[in-house]
Amino acid sequence: MKYSYLFLAISIFAFSIFTSSCSSEKNSNNVDGFDPMAYRGSDRVETLLSSMTLEDKIGEMTQITLEFMCQNDSEGKRIEPHTLDSSKVSKVINEFKVGSILNCAGHSYSPEHWQKLVGQIQQESIKSKGIPVLYGVDAIHGATYTYGAPLGPQQIALAATWDTSIVRSLSTETAKEVWGCGIPWNFSPVLDMGRDPRWPRFWETFGEDVKLVSDMGESMVKGYQEGPMPFAATLKHFLGYSTPWSGKDRTPAYIPERQLREIFLPPFQKSVDAGALSVMINSGEINGIPTHINRFILTDLLRGEMGFEGIAVTDWEDIKYLFSRHKVAKNYKDAIKLAIDAGVDMSMVPLDLKFPKLLKELVEEGEISEDRIDLSVRRILTMKEKLGLLDSERGIMSALVTEDERNIAEELTLIAAKECITLLKNENNVLPLSNDQILVTGPTANSQNALNGGWSGTWQGTNPAFNNPGRLTAYEALSQNLEKVEFVELESMDFSSSEINNVVSNIKSSNPETVILFLGEMPYTEVVGNIDDLTLQENQIELVKAVKSTGVKTVGVFIEGRPRSFDNIEHLLDGVVMAYLPGEFGGIAISEVLTGKFNPCGRLPFTWPKHPSSHVTYDRKYTENVHSDFSMNAFDPQYEFGFGLNYSPVITNTLKLIDGKEYHLGDSIRVEVELENIGDRTSIEVIMLYSQDLVASITPSVDKLKAYKRVSLEPGEIKYVTLSFSSNDLGFIDQNLNYIVEPGLFNLRVKNKTAQFSIIN
Ligand code: BGC
Repeated sequence: MKYSYLFLAISIFAFSIFTSSCSSEKNSNNVDGFDPMAYRGSDRVETLLSSMTLEDKIGEMTQITLEFMCQNDSEGKRIEPHTLDSSKVSKVINEFKVGSILNCAGHSYSPEHWQKLVGQIQQESIKSKGIPVLYGVDAIHGATYTYGAPLGPQQIALAATWDTSIVRSLSTETAKEVWGCGIPWNFSPVLDMGRDPRWPRFWETFGEDVKLVSDMGESMVKGYQEGPMPFAATLKHFLGYSTPWSGKDRTPAYIPERQLREIFLPPFQKSVDAGALSVMINSGEINGIPTHINRFILTDLLRGEMGFEGIAVTDWEDIKYLFSRHKVAKNYKDAIKLAIDAGVDMSMVPLDLKFPKLLKELVEEGEISEDRIDLSVRRILTMKEKLGLLDSERGIMSALVTEDERNIAEELTLIAAKECITLLKNENNVLPLSNDQILVTGPTANSQNALNGGWSGTWQGTNPAFNNPGRLTAYEALSQNLEKVEFVELESMDFSSSEINNVVSNIKSSNPETVILFLGEMPYTEVVGNIDDLTLQENQIELVKAVKSTGVKTVGVFIEGRPRSFDNIEHLLDGVVMAYLPGEFGGIAISEVLTGKFNPCGRLPFTWPKHPSSHVTYDRKYTENVHSDFSMNAFDPQYEFGFGLNYSPVITNTLKLIDGKEYHLGDSIRVEVELENIGDRTSIEVIMLYSQDLVASITPSVDKLKAYKRVSLEPGEIKYVTLSFSSNDLGFIDQNLNYIVEPGLFNLRVKNKTAQFSIIN
């Protein structure tokens, strides 16, 4: 029985999200409610700040997009190749002293072209005010907008590798590429929790588990920021962006403070502790309060509790949306005041220059103090200093990546693509494929864009003109690996029933051993990817039915960023493979898995729902197990979180506590797991250790992931592997919103092996 509360050293104060977020008393605090002296920068930053005019300072808080400064033709279309319009540049940099630029103007550039554009802007900025601009871009799975740079697996796929070291290495390669273009700031990683697959940015997340997301995020931040050059990560989107009630992007979320602290906050805290230099703010609203005016989140929590000292940048146009969409401000000026009072440092304006004008008026009218402005500018200048931008020669040019570096990056990208592919079903060993005739079809079979997903060459990732040349689609890679591959192309995602009939006639005439169906989604991101139904698209369901009706062995390969439910046809597929969005080497990776050159080892970083409305995460509460027949069997996903097969099975023989059955707070809890590879190939197993709090004052989860390890086993090999975690990690957020660990009994579980222990006072 739990009889008393044990508080951990880092106790979290209980502010109420409902009372403090809009409190006028708090808003009247001059400098964010904190002692401005606590935020003093280096001597260099302070000297610079004291020499700046109000216009200079407000300019630093303003971020404009590159397209605003590009030359257009007489019809208003951007001139290709994109060229800067010197009068627009002069207006932005000389007149408004803008301190930050973002983005490309619509599509990727060669590194040389990037250097030219960024170099021109930097020269102008240094000439005008002696400080280079802080240039930021979204390089979210490799250098999104750098032509020629390898595009790797998207975050959801990286999470499926359970391999934090490859995530770190890939991030360093991305940093080199982006920095080589003259850009030292990346709007990555996404640390939103992927707990609702309807949300169109699900694939940008590391999945549903707090620990996995936290670990992956930290590795990405370290990969970016601790590489050979100064480079900044951005933790986005702070906080609670990913579970809107409707499942649609940027629609209202309702998140109780306990969940906010227990589920959404820890990944951000871990990356703040790892030294992340910036955060980007959630575009949505929580409990009726747009995050951009939520002082509780942006100041009390982020600064006061989490100890974040970097910069908080808005998301795209989000201050404007406060009055145009959210309706919490009368006009733009009112919106700016609310956002600055809440804790915004920099506004991603990004398409006009009204923000600096209105912010200046607010300061001159005494609505916002200059001390408050100084606080944000100090943070921005400190970030520029850390990135070497105050050493002017750094601000102008950086070195392009070498051919050797590119080769290394490509190799790592391919390894990561292979590691993510997850084998979910393999009846009668339909896979790996033999050398017999196969037929390949499906809407994603021959598309490089499908493999890459959004943020690839362009924002939506749909334009093949910006794909790197020479990369293979899934079909192309298979036809290089196997001798007898027949391909039936489908027109588009909207393929018709006559195209399905054509597939069936081809199967009948060529009589293949196996049909490989490439299913899934074409790229999208943000609101463009909103859906009304999580079920797999109707024509894909019909395709599976029609193919299977011929009696042929059928394998479904999903190239998609979120699990679409397909229970009504799952039984028709002999094999199921989840490829996620594996990036531009995904075609090769998929073909090596299907043909057995690579033994798959990916594991799902989310729970795959069986029905569109039955989605429940693995760390559910016990009441979510209650079935309509009153049994406790309601949790019945298509595939469980952490699931994935190898061609050579690895079984868990035993799970033992190494140091006995009683532990105090702060103790390390160590277990030994006996694994055995019972097949005939080398396999990589991911051991996952879950804890179960048997009784708790807040309803406990059925399972919580506490530790995991990737282990390689030779055929027939038995291995004893140690995993450990701290007893401090067994806590939760209690009724008073404090993090506590309660003494009592706990279970541990690896697969179906369990062990029990107690936490004692
Ligand atoms: C997205 C952000 C992104 C920003 C800048 C926004 O639309 O929500 O994730 O970093 O654009 O491109």
